[in-house]
Amino acid sequence: MSGPAGNDGEGVATAGKAVHPGDLYAHFAEHDAELKARYPEQFQGQNLGLRWPDGWHTLVAGVCAYVAEHGIPVRWHQIKEKFGELRMYAEGVALRAEFQSADGATSFTSAGEEGSVPAAPTLEAKIREAQTASLQTCSRCGATDPSAQVTRRVLAGWWFTACDRCVPDIHAYVALPRDQR
Ligand SMILES: [Zn+2]
Repeated sequence: MSGPAGNDGEGVATAGKAVHPGDLYAHFAEHDAELKARYPEQFQGQNLGLRWPDGWHTLVAGVCAYVAEHGIPVRWHQIKEKFGELRMYAEGVALRAEFQSADGATSFTSAGEEGSVPAAPTLEAKIREAQTASLQTCSRCGATDPSAQVTRRVLAGWWFTACDRCVPDIHAYVALPRDQR
C-alpha cells in the first residue's frame, strides 16, 4: 500500500476522489461495505444513519463480531460519532437520552422506552466498552498508545477525539469550504 503523500489540500480533484489526511470518513464507504457484507442481518431494514470515523472502524467491527458470535438478534438503528464518542444504537437496546451542558457532554440511559425490548445486558456492556474505548482511540488514524496523546478536543463547538499528530490535518480539513470536503 502506498499512501498519497505531499498532497496537502492543493489540487482540486475533479476526476476521482482525493483523500484528504484530515478527513475522518475518507474510507467510510469501504468500511460500511465490509460490515454489511460480513454481517448482513445486522444491517437490514431502515436506520437513522450509520456512519463512523475511520479510526473507530475496529471498534465498530468488534461489536458487530460480538453480536454475530453470540447470535444476538440485533439490527443497528444508528451508529455515529457524538460529542467525540462512538455511539451505537441497536433495535432492542434501551434508548439513550442525551444532554449537553455548558462544560461538555453528559448523557444517561433511560431504559424501557416504548417499543424497546429489554437489552441483552452483555451487548449493552459491549457497546459501552466500545464507547469508552473511543475516547482513547484517535477517530482519524486509530492510534491508542499513550504517546499519541489521544484526547477529546473541541473545535468551534465540534467535539472530536484525536491524537496530537492528526489534529493539524483535521483542522485543515474542517477549514475547507464545504464543497471541497
Ligand atoms: Zn491520529
